[in-house]
Amino acid sequence: MALVEVPKEFPTKLFINGEFVDAADKRTFDNINPATEDVIAPIAMAGKADLDAAIEAAKRSQPEWGAAPPAKRASAIWKIGDEIMKRRHEFAALEAMDSGKPYRECYSIDVPMAADHFKYFAGVLRSLQGETIPVNDNLFVYTLREPLGIVAGITPWNFPLLMAARKIAPAIAAGNAVILKPASPTPLTAMLLAECIAASKVPAGIVAVLNGKGSEIGQAIVEHPDIAAISLTGSTSVGVKMIKDAAPTLKKLTMELGGKSPNVIFADSDLDMAVKGAQAAIFYNKGEVCTAGSRLLVEEKVYDETVEKLAARANKMTHANPLDDDCRYGPQNNKSQFDTTMGYIEKGKKEGAKLVAGGERMGDKGYYVAPTVFADCTSEMTIVKEEIFGPVLAVQKFGDFDDLVAKANSSEYGLAAGVWTRDVSKAHKYAKAVKAGSIWVNCYNWYDSAVPYGGYKFSGYGREMGLQGLANMTQTKSVWVQL
Ligand code: NAD
Repeated sequence: MALVEVPKEFPTKLFINGEFVDAADKRTFDNINPATEDVIAPIAMAGKADLDAAIEAAKRSQPEWGAAPPAKRASAIWKIGDEIMKRRHEFAALEAMDSGKPYRECYSIDVPMAADHFKYFAGVLRSLQGETIPVNDNLFVYTLREPLGIVAGITPWNFPLLMAARKIAPAIAAGNAVILKPASPTPLTAMLLAECIAASKVPAGIVAVLNGKGSEIGQAIVEHPDIAAISLTGSTSVGVKMIKDAAPTLKKLTMELGGKSPNVIFADSDLDMAVKGAQAAIFYNKGEVCTAGSRLLVEEKVYDETVEKLAARANKMTHANPLDDDCRYGPQNNKSQFDTTMGYIEKGKKEGAKLVAGGERMGDKGYYVAPTVFADCTSEMTIVKEEIFGPVLAVQKFGDFDDLVAKANSSEYGLAAGVWTRDVSKAHKYAKAVKAGSIWVNCYNWYDSAVPYGGYKFSGYGREMGLQGLANMTQTKSVWVQL
């Protein structure tokens, strides 16, 4: 029950050309601790002039970095992973304070995974190869994989460090320069990551971190003609706007967007394991997970028992300050998300869903929302259709396999899906039938740097992580030589 120590000093400025600098116009914004509602620190707020400075630095550095021997790039990027792990506690403490994620989760999941993204891409970048293609005897044809140039990563606030690593690591591994725009509620760990990058052998100018507003610096990135590609992780509405606004400058886009993922419990599952899995699938990171198993579909025969067990588990969950080393459940990341979540809870009640757990605020300080379970939901209800991005589970009943597939696929989203069953062929059949980018069988929310990840339908397009994530940061040139 002790609060972990938070670093007294941490970077708050912009990271441009290898240096930490104030915004050109000296503006700052306050970032807030969601557990206490106190201001943590004023953070430098980037504007168009800062973006131009970052782009000028990138233009100077990227050609040499892109042409550097792969082994040289690999060792510099590997070092970033080492630096992150050296500062594991600092990262975990700042992330917990800034985002509301429990310290123990940041320490054991987010920080090592972020370090692993750098090490994975440092490792696989040397596998980026061209091909020779037989065409006819008089021609020798080969392909080259080249960087895109200057790219940008725009990230959300739910996994701030991890998302920053997911954007930066593959981009620089492929030889690009990258500009990162973190979500404004969570600027701190991206700046600490910039310190790790400055301590590595990645040259100045290859990575810039520009904190600030989406509507301002984010929009300036989208419209900038010198940026070749953007990888966004964020909401579908911001993604759709970005696609329109990036069209005139013909940017390559990767869209990792929202979700409303169906998690399925069959009657033949190990029910205790499935219920525990369903609880973690929705309440991990207080529901602020794009892949959250926010729709639970339960086979009729075990429906009542499942709802009862799940409600009992949810009602037992307690909240604490994320910096408390015992904390397992933190506050919503920000006031606006807190209000959104509470608004959806009200809608669930009004539209007739049966509230069996939670449904209210926890405590009177901080943005805590009780783990909430609504049973007897129908596909027409708002809480079944819309992404809430908070700790609210909508439980529905299903009859046969066709009914299940129809309900699972009724969402406009298609990011992830889970299924709990002891019948292996049923699991594979379901995995094939459901329209989503990641399917978990008898588990939920597993990720690995090596496994491609991304959405179907309104959850986006393009893939991150794995070899596809690396290839996504390159373009192919075909060379024809007459012999
Ligand atoms: P958001 O869409 O509001 O913001 C995402 C980022 O886009 C932020 O950095 C924001 O400042 C920026 N932005 C906003 N307007 C912009 C504009 N006009 N131009 C350029 N940039 C702009 O999302 P959020 O509230 O930060 O995060 C929650 C959302 O992210 C949820 O919908 C969630 O599902 C999604 N998400 C998806 C994944 C995934 O992998 N698919 C992962 C995490 C979160």
